[in-house]
Amino acid sequence: MSTGRTLLIVEDDDLLRQALKEQLAALGDFAVIDEAADGAAAFVAVKGKVFDLILLDIGLPDMDGRDVCAKLRESGVRSPIIMLTAADSEDDTITGLDAGANDYVTKPFRMAVLLARVRAHLRQHNQSDDAIFTVGPYKFQPAAKMLVIGDGQNSGGQKKIRLTEKETAILKYLYRVGNKTVSRETLLGEVWGYNAAVTTHTLETHIYRLRQKIEAEPSAARLLLTEPGGYRLNP
Ligand code: CA
Repeated sequence: MSTGRTLLIVEDDDLLRQALKEQLAALGDFAVIDEAADGAAAFVAVKGKVFDLILLDIGLPDMDGRDVCAKLRESGVRSPIIMLTAADSEDDTITGLDAGANDYVTKPFRMAVLLARVRAHLRQHNQSDDAIFTVGPYKFQPAAKMLVIGDGQNSGGQKKIRLTEKETAILKYLYRVGNKTVSRETLLGEVWGYNAAVTTHTLETHIYRLRQKIEAEPSAARLLLTEPGGYRLNP
């Protein structure tokens, strides 16, 4: 199922950005490494695309990296973000973390230090499969392939809905993207793999079954919405 991890490097220093790209490519953890030299390019890069990790310079020519970080979070980006801070100032760090960054590395840094942080965050992000996400009235547990509704306190108790692996993967991807439309092609590629010979009909069948499980009224979906060109998860 995995199609390889993706990384976005937002850094205006061309030499540093190239060095980062080369070193991170050598790790072998990333199938795709995209680059952006300023905040505006970073926003373009995340449109309709989910990165497993984002490296974000604090001093960009058009914007403060912390503002870029806050805007990315606002737009639903949930990937780990590591800020590259120029000054060894506690204020910078704190504002960066307030803006929604997961971590920071102070320049000049040793490449080995940065690579270690990158790996640590990728590991943590993988384990976050164990986390529980809220989807509409449900608690979504991807690792357990399960949706739970109700808190067990009321007379109705909890109701558990079992999902198949593909249904879980579809829901997980739509959740990670945030409140954005994902094209059928992207969803097919992410869930079945880009080389798999599956048609959109297969995807539509899975969406249909998923709606039967999660929608109060499957014919009038309120959670898993059909949009022009794709699907969107309505949080
Ligand atoms: Ca800079």
